[in-house]
Amino acid sequence: MSIQVFGLAVSRGVAIGRAVLVANTRVDVAHYRVDDAALPAEIERLRHARNTVADELQSLKRELRPDAPHELSALLDVHLMLLHDDSLAEATVQWIKSRHYNAEWALSAQTEVVVRQFEQMDDEYLRERKADIEQVTDRLQRVLAKQSSGIPMPRAAHAFSGEDPLVLVANDIAPADMLQFKGSVFTGFITDVGGRTSHTAIVARSLDIPAVVGAREASRLIRQDDWVIIDGDHGVVVVDPSPIVLDEYRFRQRESELERARLNRLRHRPSVTLDGQKVELLANIEQPGDAVAALDAGAVGVGLFRSEFLFLHRGDALPDEFEQFVAYRDAVQAMNGLPVTIRTVDIGADKPLERLTLHELRHEHVLNPALGLRAIRWSLSEPRMFMQQLRAILRASAFGKVRLLIPMLAHFSEVTATLDAVARAKQQLADAGQAFGPVELGAMIEIPAAAMTMPLLLKHFDFVSIGTNDLIQYTLAIDRADEAVAHLYDPWHPAVLRLVQMVIDAANSAGKHVSVCGEMAGDASFTELLLALGLRSLSMHPSQIPAVKQRVLRADTARLRAAWASASTSDDPGSVWRQQQEASGRPGRVH
Ligand code: PEP
Ligand code: MG
Repeated sequence: MSIQVFGLAVSRGVAIGRAVLVANTRVDVAHYRVDDAALPAEIERLRHARNTVADELQSLKRELRPDAPHELSALLDVHLMLLHDDSLAEATVQWIKSRHYNAEWALSAQTEVVVRQFEQMDDEYLRERKADIEQVTDRLQRVLAKQSSGIPMPRAAHAFSGEDPLVLVANDIAPADMLQFKGSVFTGFITDVGGRTSHTAIVARSLDIPAVVGAREASRLIRQDDWVIIDGDHGVVVVDPSPIVLDEYRFRQRESELERARLNRLRHRPSVTLDGQKVELLANIEQPGDAVAALDAGAVGVGLFRSEFLFLHRGDALPDEFEQFVAYRDAVQAMNGLPVTIRTVDIGADKPLERLTLHELRHEHVLNPALGLRAIRWSLSEPRMFMQQLRAILRASAFGKVRLLIPMLAHFSEVTATLDAVARAKQQLADAGQAFGPVELGAMIEIPAAAMTMPLLLKHFDFVSIGTNDLIQYTLAIDRADEAVAHLYDPWHPAVLRLVQMVIDAANSAGKHVSVCGEMAGDASFTELLLALGLRSLSMHPSQIPAVKQRVLRADTARLRAAWASASTSDDPGSVWRQQQEASGRPGRVH
C-alpha cells in the first residue's frame, strides 16, 4: 500500500526509483554496477571474501584459550553459521546477479533486509542476533574493501541506462560521504535527519538531484527495493506509489526538466536588472573540479570554495601545504582569470575531522558542536595547519585572482590573530622566494556579533560575505542540522532581515564589496528581497544560477527598494513583503 512521508525539501525536481537502503555505518561502501561479463568475477570476489572471513573465524576459535568461556566459542560458531546461511550468502549473490550490484553494495543491501527481519522478531534472544549479523557483514565488508582499489567511488548511472533508476535512503549521511556520491548511480536522496541548511543538504543540493532530508521515519518505513518518488520541491516522499500517482509525478518530472532546459538558455546572458544594475552571480564549490560546473552555469567567479572538504574523510592523512596548493591552483586556473574566493577551513560542527556522526559528536565528544571549536576558532587553535593553509592559498594567488575568506569571526582578538597569521605567511613565502599575488582579505559575517560590529571589521577587511546559514542559526538559536527545530529556522524572521540589512548598508557605505554566500542567495524566492536590500553580489550552487538570473533579469531595483522601504517599517516585514510581491504579480518570463 502506498504511503507518504514528509520531510524538508532540499533539492528541486522529482526523482523516481527503487530504494537502496544504506545503514549509517555502510554509507561509504562502494556502490557501482557490474556489467554482464564481470558478474562471475564479482560473485567469485564475494565467495573469496566469505572464505577469508571463515578462515579468520576458525583461527580465532582455534586460538581461544582452553579456559575461555564456552560462550565465546559458541558465538564464533553462530557467526560461522550466519556467514554461510542462505539468507545472507545466496541472497547476496542474487542482488549481484539480478541487479548487477557490486559485491559490497549487494552485501549491504542484503544486510539491511536481514537486520530488519531480526528487528521484527518477537523473541528477544533472536532480536539481539542482529548485532551478530552486523559483525559478520562488517568483517566481510572489510575484506572486500581491501580487495578493491583505493577509495570506493560510485560509478555513473548512464552506463546502465536500461536499469531501474535508484534512490538512496539512509538515516543520516555525513557531508563528506554525500560528496562521494557526485556522479554516482543514485538519482535522488532521502535521509531521516538533517535541516535544510545542514551541510549534508548543502552538498545534496550541489549534486543537483532531488533530495529530501529530515524525513524522520523514512529509512524505517521504506524497504529495500521499494519504488519511491522523491518530490524535492515539496519535501514529500511517496513509497510504493499507485500507477495514477506515478503518472502524475512522471508528468511533473518532465515539466521540471523542460523548465530547467529553458532556464539554462539564460546561461550566457549578462546578469543585469531592468533598470541597468549589474548583479554578480558567483558559484559555491566544494572541490576544484566543481569549477567546470560553475563556468557552465555562467558564474563570473567563485564566491565560496568550502576548503574543508579537502580535509574530510582523510583520517590522519590530512592534505599538506603542497596538496592544498595544487587543489587551490587547479580551481584558480580552471576559472580562467575569474576571481576565486577560498575560505579557510570550517572544520567542526557537522563537519568534524574524524568520521563521527553528528549524533556521536553531540553525545560523546562535544557538548554543543555548533557553539564549539569551529571554523576560525579551530584554525587558530591549530596554528601549524592554519599557516600551511594560508601559505597554500597565497601561493595559488600567483596563478590568478584569489580572495581569502575567513569564516565565523566574532572577536577582535580573532581578527588581529588572523591578520597577524596572514602577514607571517606572506613573510615566510617571501623569505623562501615563493611567488604569490595580491590577495584580498574577507570576513564572513555569520554571527550576530560580527554583524553588529561591522565598522570595526570593515577597517581591517577588503570585503565581507554574509553566511546566512549560520547567521540565521546563531540569531535564532536554532541548530541548522536538527530537523526537530527546522520549522523555527526562519530566514524571514525580522531580526535576520535587520541584520542582513545592517551588514549590506555598512559595507555599501564604506565602499566595500559585500556578497551573500549562504543558501538564501541561491533560493530564487529571496532574490528580489536581497536586491531591495542593496545587494549586488550573490554566491550559490552552480545549478541555482539560472533561476536566480531569471529573477535578476526581470527585476527593477528602484521599484523593489521603494517596496521594501514601506514593508520594512511593519512588525513583520517578511510577510508584508511577500504579500506585496504577490499582489504586484510577477513580470513575464525572460527568454
Ligand atoms: C553560511 O553559514 O551561510 C555559509 C555559507 O557557510 P557554511 O554553510 O559552510 O557554514
Ligand atoms: Mg557558515
